[in-house]
Amino acid sequence: MSDSIKYVLDESRIPKVWYNLAADLPKPLPPALHPGTQKPLGPDDLAPLFPMALIMQEVSTEREIEIPEPVRDIYRQWRPSPLYRARRLEKVLDTPAKIYYKYEGVSPAGSHKPNTAVAQAFYNQQEGVKKLATETGAGQWGSALAFAGALFGIEVQVFMVRVSYDQKPYRRALMETYGARCIPSPSNETQSGRAILAKNPNHLGSLGIAISEAVEVAAQHDDTKYALGSVLNHVLLHQTVVGQEAMAQMEMAGDYPDVIVGCTGGGSNFAGIVFPFLGTQLRGGRKVRIVAIEPAACPSLTRGQYAYDFGDTAHLTPLAKMHTLGSTFTPPGFHAGGLRYHGMAPLVSHIKELGLIEARAYHQISCFEAGVQFARAEGILPAPEANHAVRGAIDEALKCKQEGKSRTILFNLCGHGHFDMQAYIDYFDGKLKDIEYDEAELAMALAGLPSVKAA
Ligand SMILES: *Cc1c(COP(=O)(O)O)cnc(C)c1O
Repeated sequence: MSDSIKYVLDESRIPKVWYNLAADLPKPLPPALHPGTQKPLGPDDLAPLFPMALIMQEVSTEREIEIPEPVRDIYRQWRPSPLYRARRLEKVLDTPAKIYYKYEGVSPAGSHKPNTAVAQAFYNQQEGVKKLATETGAGQWGSALAFAGALFGIEVQVFMVRVSYDQKPYRRALMETYGARCIPSPSNETQSGRAILAKNPNHLGSLGIAISEAVEVAAQHDDTKYALGSVLNHVLLHQTVVGQEAMAQMEMAGDYPDVIVGCTGGGSNFAGIVFPFLGTQLRGGRKVRIVAIEPAACPSLTRGQYAYDFGDTAHLTPLAKMHTLGSTFTPPGFHAGGLRYHGMAPLVSHIKELGLIEARAYHQISCFEAGVQFARAEGILPAPEANHAVRGAIDEALKCKQEGKSRTILFNLCGHGHFDMQAYIDYFDGKLKDIEYDEAELAMALAGLPSVKAA
């Protein structure tokens, strides 16, 4: 048993509920606000964008929310996902630490994203929705939703950030294979897109702009809703299957993490692995150190402001209290496209403010170094986003070596990088640069934060 490297649960151990951290928070989450009135948002305000079942999950404080059987049934294709002990990596690092990783790259889309895409498509189908509009950065969310849409007979329209659309034709092809329509953003199909193109016809796009376009399409069509792959409470909720399984697998291994590491773009894979453990801690159980890793080129948690801000560039979304770089901040082009969002999930921001988690920012070259070291030891090639978590876990293991202490480290390997080989090619060719994010541009974007009287 102690020599195992892989901990596998059978299908009956797929969680039956999603775990809702809101039930165990020492202080409630500041509410989302209506962009016009700045009053706390009611369920009806969100009805044009989301099915009611998801809106109720968004505001729920119930600890456990049942996973519908049809969703669990689809989860069976790749869940429970494996948990590995990285024994070969430990050897290479010559560390007394024990390193475990939960691998979410086994899903059809290659990341954790289908955990929520399938749930979202299910609830939309239940409420008669015919079409979902969404945005995608690197293409992982777009392909996850395209996959889920295909299963539930829902048409999927994906606004893909222009720079990724041009650089990542294989992700686009995957979305199209699943039957989705993929549009480079900013596009001529929406008012928000046309407004951007009028100012700059060669705009490379951003997640904030693509969100505006998708929200606009959903708001204007009765049979169309909007879907988001990160940030929102219900998305983080769906990802908690990851942490619940990891808890059972750590138990199989006869171990418990001292440290949990995850990468944060909008915060969903991090929340997925962390929240079940944090909930246990908040209910009086064992304490665990939690570290969020973000890119230095888009450092919302470590250098952003904790303030009410819009989720998109055209200011069509509600105001959420979160760590933000400003909704007009366009992060420089770096390779972890899935981490290029100006804001952080309100729930992750909140627990950072409460001092329940730490955050660190890393430059991309050191993350690729870690990813390559990991691949050569463990065989799995991580997504560029996941490389941030790998770097974080390796640094924790090296700290153990320095201090001559053994600790148990758990991290979320949220996806594989098979569609991101150009990034690896650029890394090997020495073409990657560590981008210092532009202080002046950030100051400008932060100066544009909405002034909010409440809270
Ligand atoms: C989308 C994505 C991310 C970033 O989103 P989070 O909500 O922060 O998890 C990170 N890694 C991978 C592999 C992704 O697909």
